[in-house]
Amino acid sequence: MTFKTDIEIAREGQKKPIQEVGARLGIQSEHLLPFGHDKAKVSAEFIKSLEGKKDGKLILVTAINPTPAGEGKTTTTVGLGDGLNSIGKKAAICIREASLGPCFGMKGGAAGGGYAQVIPMEDMNLHFTGDFHAITSAHNLLSAMIDNHIYWGNALEIDERRVTWRRVMDMNDRALRDTVTSLGGVANGFPRQTGFDITVASEVMAILCLANDLDDLKKRLGDIIVAYRRDRTPIYARDIKADGAMTVLLQQAMQPNLVQTLENNPAFVHGGPFANIAHGCNSVIATKTALKLADYVVTEAGFGADLGAEKFMNIKCRKAGIAPDCVVLVATVRAMKMNGGVAKADLGAENVEAVQQGCDNLGRHIANLKSFGVPVVVGINHFTSDTDAEVQAVMDYVASQGSEAILCKHWEKGSAGIQELATRVAEIADADVAQFAPLYRDNMPLFEKIERIAKSIYRADEVLADKKIRDQLRAWEQDGYGDLPVCMAKTQYSFSTDPNLRGAPTGHSVPIREVRLSAGAGFVVAICGEIMTMPGLPRVPSAEQIKLNDAGEIEGLF
Ligand code: ADP
Ligand code: MG
Repeated sequence: MTFKTDIEIAREGQKKPIQEVGARLGIQSEHLLPFGHDKAKVSAEFIKSLEGKKDGKLILVTAINPTPAGEGKTTTTVGLGDGLNSIGKKAAICIREASLGPCFGMKGGAAGGGYAQVIPMEDMNLHFTGDFHAITSAHNLLSAMIDNHIYWGNALEIDERRVTWRRVMDMNDRALRDTVTSLGGVANGFPRQTGFDITVASEVMAILCLANDLDDLKKRLGDIIVAYRRDRTPIYARDIKADGAMTVLLQQAMQPNLVQTLENNPAFVHGGPFANIAHGCNSVIATKTALKLADYVVTEAGFGADLGAEKFMNIKCRKAGIAPDCVVLVATVRAMKMNGGVAKADLGAENVEAVQQGCDNLGRHIANLKSFGVPVVVGINHFTSDTDAEVQAVMDYVASQGSEAILCKHWEKGSAGIQELATRVAEIADADVAQFAPLYRDNMPLFEKIERIAKSIYRADEVLADKKIRDQLRAWEQDGYGDLPVCMAKTQYSFSTDPNLRGAPTGHSVPIREVRLSAGAGFVVAICGEIMTMPGLPRVPSAEQIKLNDAGEIEGLF
């Protein structure tokens, strides 16, 4: 059997004018700032007018540790939103915007897949409404102002060797990872080593996604630490006087984007921070706006639940004052098989035993999520190659863990394939059984927060860190940053720091290589292992396949 590609399905989608989609949520057209006919930003005044309104129920979609087989969090988020609407509920979804890096690099869009997609998927995967352009510009304005400050006499006494603020671009370009700037003589300033990160790794992106409004945005931008003096005292973006102009550049980007699913249901697509050195969730402002407008809001967090859901709970929910009413944990038979030791090339053959062996990864995620006090239901994202026996093996395993699993065929059938899960999720959310509590208190020492995550989520025996790192954490506590949550930067492929260790490893240790302070975003990043903030393109980038066909349509975008 052959299936249509994501872009073929998306192109056949019957879009409604965006005003109609907005009207379903009660957004009058004067409060929609249209970008073409099928995309719009929601006005800041309208969002302000929602204050005091009751919130709908929040549903988090997360997943087991990802495998190259693909899990389908976004696909399930979109499908579940459509499923809830199809059973008569008023639901909206909230997902992240796409970066051009992965789009032109490895195959894989950000709009979902099959019959569970957000449209227009071409726009969403490319320039969309220009938010990433605005973030890139705001980031690089600050970079330019730092070098300009040094050029004109360096009144702040910036130590040129300790400028931590780099430049960004929304492209996978390994050639720019490490660079020397200001070459070419006196008129060009003082040469120094620096480099580029991808835009989604910018602290400005994380700030935009955590800020409550424009005032909060400006304050956080001002709080960014850009460099240090020789005496190691920090210099802030506020000292460079960049925060005002950066806020101006970001004013429109702060307004959430409204688009629609293939079934014409409302979808907020806004923000897209990295899930390693940042928290990997769509913007707080979009989620909060959706909660005011819909009875059910389905959102997703990046990577597996050990990283994505943990940060969603401990960073986003804590900071935004929101809490999930139900969590959907996405699992696939294929990923269970890979966790059970099957190679990617052999995934097509039935292997119930491998499925069973891989299930302990799923089991640990279930237990971890429950430890946050939230009800969990497993959504099995069905691939057409899955056999009944394999699906049953996952069902049986989940039942043995005292939880429930529901088979979902939204990729193949849209909302019709996911109504059972939608019904159950609505029931759970309506029952108000969640008693959400983050994993650690604000005032717990920073190192203990790292230990808490490593021991209770990763099930590690210990956290290893040099004196230098522990001293740094203590110094930040003395400087008043001790109340910040911790943002773990770890491989997404394993509970441990070894990407090849699948399943549910125990007895491992978590070495902390480096810690960074994102003072504007409001978290301390703990880096365990190699973290790439400027990815490269693969040997055969998907850009080679992307082109316009004779009809002027985009081909090759997945
Ligand atoms: P995630 O959000 O977990 O990274 P996505 O939802 O973006 O994953 O899905 C990744 C890719 O896998 C997409 O191209 C999508 O079309 C594909 N995919 C997802 N679910 C299925 C499925 N049930 N059958 C076949 N392909 C799927
Ligand atoms: Mg996704």
